[in-house]
Amino acid sequence: MPIWPPDDICAKAIDLVRAGAAILLLSDRPASAESLPVPMALATGAVHHALIRAGIRTRVGLAVEAGDCRDLHHFAVLLGMGAGAVCPWLALETARNLNPEKGEANLLHALDLGLAKIMSKMGISVVDSYRGAHLFDSIGLSREEQLRLRAIVITHTHLDHTASLPFFITDLFQELQEPIALYATPSDFDALREHLFNPRMWTSLDTLRNETTELLVHRPYRSGERFTVEGLQLLPVPVTHTVLTHGMLVEDESSAVLFTSDTGATERIWQVANECAKLRAVFIDLSFPTSLTELARVSKHHSPLTLVAELEKLRSGVKFYGVHLKAPYRDRIVAEVAALAESRIEVADIGLDYEF
Ligand SMILES: [Zn+2]
Ligand SMILES: [Zn+2]
Repeated sequence: MPIWPPDDICAKAIDLVRAGAAILLLSDRPASAESLPVPMALATGAVHHALIRAGIRTRVGLAVEAGDCRDLHHFAVLLGMGAGAVCPWLALETARNLNPEKGEANLLHALDLGLAKIMSKMGISVVDSYRGAHLFDSIGLSREEQLRLRAIVITHTHLDHTASLPFFITDLFQELQEPIALYATPSDFDALREHLFNPRMWTSLDTLRNETTELLVHRPYRSGERFTVEGLQLLPVPVTHTVLTHGMLVEDESSAVLFTSDTGATERIWQVANECAKLRAVFIDLSFPTSLTELARVSKHHSPLTLVAELEKLRSGVKFYGVHLKAPYRDRIVAEVAALAESRIEVADIGLDYEF
């Protein structure tokens, strides 16, 4: 068996899935002293993300046979890197040797309990929310990508949109040469200052500076008033959510893209979109599956059912990319969208670059 560097493994995985494979098994079993394996966490993460980038991750299950999975942490890392099933074959063999009767069952039971404990510490209740969840990057971006990030736009202060901000800023503490611009309405910025950046929760905004610079600087924006971020024009439009939330029409000279942020059925943003001749795409809330449409309605989000109704309000035929899928329902929502007779709606792939 040849040793494949991760790029080759990824290319092979993509070929297999395109040829119809429904389950991929990554294995280091054939390893020997002459033929060392790629660490399985590395191989798993590489394949998981290569499949996402190729737009085919949802077509295939990813199972991993890992000799280097010897304890609970290794096991959790493999799941976090995107494995759907893990066989810690060497650990199981060792457990069987130590105790032929109960060793294997005891090990599996301990892994089960330990994983539940790790996830509960993070407030995660189902494995699906943990799998491939970018847990090992502070915000799902590589270090280089984080350092290139110059500006952040806050659409509303709900925790799922702001929770990683304090970690992101403090992680870059040493490297920042100039502050990150934080675009937010004055009231949202006050809320962040009071409830998130305070000594009881994390660090106060006033102390967020290194020897060279402040780490964060507030740039206020107001409803309906265009502002410029890094050469792009943004128009904030209030949408329908449980708190004041702004969707953004983002424009450069040639094209425009609409990001709704969290919203239920709404009107104003579609009027704005209908007046924009260079609109190329809409990225829109798709939080819940159709079976939870009632929950989507009361929490001011969308399900595939309510999104289809929203589609009517936009005259141009551009695509709707669903984002903000609640992790436990992701697979279900993807399947429901695929089953719609409406090809204008698609689920956006995490980790894929879109160009318009
Ligand atoms: Zn929200
Ligand atoms: Zn949200």
